Amino acid sequence: PDSPRGICGATADVMVARNFLRAVASGSGCYIHVVENTALNLKNTALEKGKLRGKGALERLCKIFGISGGDEYEKALKVADAVLKDIYRPVYEKMELVEKMAYPPRFKKWTELGILPGGAVAEVYKGVVKCSTNLNSDPVDMLLNCLKLGISTGIYGLTLTNLLNDVLLGEPEIRPAPVGLRVIDPDYINVMITGHQHTMFVHLQDRLTESDVVTKAKAAGAKGFKLVGCTCVGQDLQLRGAHYTEIFDGHAGNNYTSEAILATGAIDAVLSEFNCTLPGIEPICDKLLIKQICIDDVAKKANAEYLPFNFAERAKQSDEIIGKIIDSYKERRSKVALNLQKDHGHENSITGVSEVSLKKFLGGNWKPLVDLVVSGDIKGVAGVVGCSSLVSGGHDVLTVSLTKELIARDIIVLTAGCSSGGLENCGLMNPEAAELAGPKLKAVCKKLG
Ligand code: SF4
Repeated sequence: PDSPRGICGATADVMVARNFLRAVASGSGCYIHVVENTALNLKNTALEKGKLRGKGALERLCKIFGISGGDEYEKALKVADAVLKDIYRPVYEKMELVEKMAYPPRFKKWTELGILPGGAVAEVYKGVVKCSTNLNSDPVDMLLNCLKLGISTGIYGLTLTNLLNDVLLGEPEIRPAPVGLRVIDPDYINVMITGHQHTMFVHLQDRLTESDVVTKAKAAGAKGFKLVGCTCVGQDLQLRGAHYTEIFDGHAGNNYTSEAILATGAIDAVLSEFNCTLPGIEPICDKLLIKQICIDDVAKKANAEYLPFNFAERAKQSDEIIGKIIDSYKERRSKVALNLQKDHGHENSITGVSEVSLKKFLGGNWKPLVDLVVSGDIKGVAGVVGCSSLVSGGHDVLTVSLTKELIARDIIVLTAGCSSGGLENCGLMNPEAAELAGPKLKAVCKKLG
């Protein structure tokens, strides 16, 4: 910059830290919104004694939280309430589950640094306040605040969202499954799902396989309904797909693949509930007559119909949405040409890896993996996680080339989010990807089959 300070006297460090905190507070707000809705859906399901598909996950959470007694519904209610109570605390009250969820030495370090978060919702507003004009001008304080938001977002927005999803939606199981544009079957009425809040449409998802609804699809000329996975929520469904084989054929692709998925012409509706429902899909949906339905206005698109999710009304809402999807199918299929890509993607991409399923696969403990690291057969584990991006060469180019380089050096890669969508579409989650690994890692893969 021409001047060392802004007109108010702020240094470049202050400006950068302030902008960073603003982005972190906004991101934290997003994922606290997700865990809030997920916990509310678990609570409401427990109150009406609805379907809980992950009993083992519920027991594990009860153990971590120190909850005992009562039937599964009472336990689920207590788990959901514990999460909600924490995130709604004021900023001056520390959240209680942090210590129960965190790795103990890390919790000790956070305590020493004074960055244990108060209520997660209140921490978001505090972060937003701090980064407004001429408030905080201490870059170190603002960066420490980012760490605090990172703790609440990581434990509640990410880890607990996943664990509550396990209880409501069923736990991941390791299995091979198809990925890529090949999963789109034009004989069905296809709904592309985008977002991160799977529990908001689980009722609709179940309803789509019930005989009276399938009969309606058949009357319209289709074999039934299919959900087509896209973005994080598609990956979540892929992960838990062992429980949903009837309605879900596989994950078609990550956020920036949405346009290609729609361009196949075989998608009849987009159901969005969170990011990343790209603004770029709006003109494509208009052109290809694809109905857009949004059930959470945080992800409202200009040309989407907004039907706000309401747990108590969900049976009525699901039927209303199904009617609109069928109407869209009838309206568009004779007018829009198909442009399917049946060779895109892979048939046997490995999915369903969670901490629990991986440990089970290893025989109930981590020793086989640790032994391989100790012996040097595996040099280590690297995470290639998060959103896909278009920088550094184009869509998924950076993450795919980085992963190829890591496995060639005998380092195994743990991946999640849209990065994993790109890696699986490029075949790096297929058993055949062992051929790209270094000699030691390749031998380990071959031994495991
Ligand atoms: S991983 Fe990132 S890009 Fe993909 S859906 Fe989630 S937030 Fe969006």
